[in-house]
Amino acid sequence: MSKMLRAKMAALARVNSIKEKGIYPYFRPISSSQDTEVDIDGKKVLMFGSNSYLGLTNHPRVKEAAIRAVEKYGTGCAGSRFLNGTLDLHIELEQRLAEFVGKEAALVFSTGFQSNLGALSSLTGRNDYIILDELDHASLIDGSRLSFSKVVKYRHNNMEDLEAKLQAMPQSSVRLIAIDGVFSMEGDIARLPEIVALADAYGANIMVDDAHGLGVIGVNGAGTASHFGLTDKVDVIMGTFSKSFASLGGFIAGDKEIIEYLKHYARPLVFSASMTPAAVASVIATLDIMQTEPEHIQRLWDNTNYARTLLKEAGFDTGSVSETPIIPIYIRSEDNVFRVTRMLQEEGLFVNPVVPPAVQPDATLIRFSLMATHTFSQIETAVDKLTEAFTRAGVPLKQKI
Ligand code: PMP
Repeated sequence: MSKMLRAKMAALARVNSIKEKGIYPYFRPISSSQDTEVDIDGKKVLMFGSNSYLGLTNHPRVKEAAIRAVEKYGTGCAGSRFLNGTLDLHIELEQRLAEFVGKEAALVFSTGFQSNLGALSSLTGRNDYIILDELDHASLIDGSRLSFSKVVKYRHNNMEDLEAKLQAMPQSSVRLIAIDGVFSMEGDIARLPEIVALADAYGANIMVDDAHGLGVIGVNGAGTASHFGLTDKVDVIMGTFSKSFASLGGFIAGDKEIIEYLKHYARPLVFSASMTPAAVASVIATLDIMQTEPEHIQRLWDNTNYARTLLKEAGFDTGSVSETPIIPIYIRSEDNVFRVTRMLQEEGLFVNPVVPPAVQPDATLIRFSLMATHTFSQIETAVDKLTEAFTRAGVPLKQKI
């Protein structure tokens, strides 16, 4: 075996040990659409692990829009936005998104991950700094690495630490604070008002990755900056279409000049094929629904509040930080997280296990996420199944830190 493979096989040992214990929870094939109930291994499984917060992946108008787009434009664009891959639909979506989040312009990429890689790798340079929250999404971390800028992390949502980091940086450099608006694993919201105050005081810029804030918080779901009334203070807003927007793709919004620059220098945009017609059309349809039917967001919040109350009443440790439809159920032991997830799957409940590096080692958890389309009765069943699985696995509901 080559030296390279030996090193990688050692890393794979972690995966193999979970498999040997029969508690491997990943790559579970689903044979139905992403909805509140899915088919796995011929069984109906309740889905509480989806990012489709508004539950629109099966909405008849969204599906119809995708079908019409395939009929008119075909299945793919066969090129990058830069060359032959720009459709009038991409432009329409960009205008709609800019208006939605309150920025001058927007640019769509083929995934959310690529949007972050594209923006961060090109907006700052070698002598600059990118400042990240330690729990930022992997795509912000990887985009920062590609920028060749100096990357500095501050402790999660810790403003004293952020200020200390800003103080230590030369004012002559560009300093870009790039953060998740809603943190994807524990459901807490970035302390944007304080971050804006610090950015103002030290002359730094701000980019918010709003993958989990769009469609969930802010005016008609316009996200974290809108939620705090701070849209003008955030330089760059990023979003993905793989969550509330029920599709695939992502975008960056900001001043016209920033977007014009990214159009020509963001390599994941220029050198990768554009979003497919069906994906674009479904985002436009979803945006229509978000802007005209506020009841979806209202139902999402009713479900979130109901689930949080039931989970707390049942005695689960849901912590104190989550303020969104992402509810962490702390287990604080990697093996137990996998065992409980596995049992839940057998009992017909899909949730996601979360272990380092996605969270701190003492915060391993089950990520329980709500959709607008869940019924109260599905939520009640899910909480019962959780209680049964914890009991069967011998895992106490309240974990000691
Ligand atoms: N940012 C955050 C905060 C995310 O949670 C994700 C997806 N999990 C992404 C970016 C990447 O988005 P996509 O899946 O659309 O590539």
